[in-house]
Amino acid sequence: MLRLYDTAARAVMPIEPAESGHLRIYACGPTVYRDAHVGNMRTFLLPDLIARTAHARGLRVTITQNITDVGHMLDDTGLGSSGAVDEGQQGEDRMLAAADSAGGSALAIAREFEARFVADCERLGIGAPKHLPRASECIPLMIALIGTLIEKGHAYIGGDGSVYFDATSVSDYGAISGNRLDALKPGHRFEGGVDPNKRFHADWALWKRAPHSRTQLVWDTPWGIGFPGWHIECTAMLLEFLGESVDIHTGGIDLRFPHHEDERAQTNAAVGQDVVRHWVHGEHLLFEGRKMSKSAGNVVLVEDLVTRGIDPRALRLAFLQTHYRTQVDLSWAAVEAAAKLLRKWRQTVAIATWQPSHVDQRMVNQVLEMFEDDLTTASAIVVLRQFEKDESIDISVKAATLAVCDELLGLDLTMSQPATLLHTADVVPDDVAALLAQRSLARDSRDWAQSDVIRDELATLGWTVTDEAGGQSLRRSRN
Ligand code: AMP
Ligand code: ZN
Repeated sequence: MLRLYDTAARAVMPIEPAESGHLRIYACGPTVYRDAHVGNMRTFLLPDLIARTAHARGLRVTITQNITDVGHMLDDTGLGSSGAVDEGQQGEDRMLAAADSAGGSALAIAREFEARFVADCERLGIGAPKHLPRASECIPLMIALIGTLIEKGHAYIGGDGSVYFDATSVSDYGAISGNRLDALKPGHRFEGGVDPNKRFHADWALWKRAPHSRTQLVWDTPWGIGFPGWHIECTAMLLEFLGESVDIHTGGIDLRFPHHEDERAQTNAAVGQDVVRHWVHGEHLLFEGRKMSKSAGNVVLVEDLVTRGIDPRALRLAFLQTHYRTQVDLSWAAVEAAAKLLRKWRQTVAIATWQPSHVDQRMVNQVLEMFEDDLTTASAIVVLRQFEKDESIDISVKAATLAVCDELLGLDLTMSQPATLLHTADVVPDDVAALLAQRSLARDSRDWAQSDVIRDELATLGWTVTDEAGGQSLRRSRN
């Protein structure tokens, strides 16, 4: 059974779906005002790894992931997990700031970056979620929810006409992050630390009244023209698409507080029960020793890998070589090394002629059990490396086993298969299959000279290879 570290429980917990056989996952998605960087992608890989592991045990998995196209404030992060609340609803909206500097409409920019996010996920083999709702298209859900929270006495209209959540109206605030209300200190923005529009410094906005100057991303509501606060979109989408019992909620570690804490308070207050069963967070990725940031100039995108001629699945393999709960310092050298390993495994899968009966089930089980053990993917890669290197094991067994494990790994290890051999009536010896696979790889990298050399070698061995639309076709040469 799958076990994952639950941030709220502070322990590795068995994951038993509320509905038998059906795992429901809510994944915090991207804010689409810029490209997701490889650190973001590491976090977005998390639900995919969980889903593949659950699938392998026959579970149905439903993933909902939000697309934030309404924007958050530039400085809405509070003071992280330090426990001090900076109201932070005053800053500039990130979507609007991006629209301003690009001179376009905020939603047009959002659509562009959403498409790029979807493409990046595909390049990393991250399965598409069942629902990918846009915040801008779920505003009525948020309005209804805010109405419910006001009705139930969990929210109030503040001095500025905005609607605030009353943090003191819930009894277990802080369950995820450990930041209890009595320990939260006010921020420094207002005199005395307290926003005069709110009753209590740790209250947060559910709906913000818009200034007249704001013309985009505003909606009319019973509380005037405005826009949603940071956390309400996730509550609205989670309840709408997954219902009142959600097995796993994922996100990056920075989202623990205030985002998930506030989201949890709202969701539970609206429904009257604990909705999310397990909170799972991925640690941050650094690049070449530093936090990725625009100002440090070390933001790396999936596109940057492609520009360097590196298959994005090499990044996925590099992620698999680490534990999701460990902060990792990635480097180009590590990505290159993963790319090399990926090529080797693909070649192994491609060169052997293998059948399902060749699969080493013991190895497949070992890998699956490691995934189930709080996604200990790094250990799984280590044992697979040893297995693939072991000269006493038949290449067909290695190929078949890697191909089956790829359901979990998602490395597209069988990519060269269909292109390698379209049709042959003859039994292909291993050395010929190996040459064919090498030729396929040469052609994939447009090395036509090498491709011709291998064709001549095959001819010497008595085989004629021809290139067709879908790949290479092989037959015995006539003497
Ligand atoms: P954003 O698009 O900024 O809302 O971030 C999307 C996701 O990426 C969130 O779940 C963040 O917690 C996560 N995230 C942000 N920075 C990093 C990083 N350096 N490494 C891993 N995850 C990150
Ligand atoms: Zn969220």
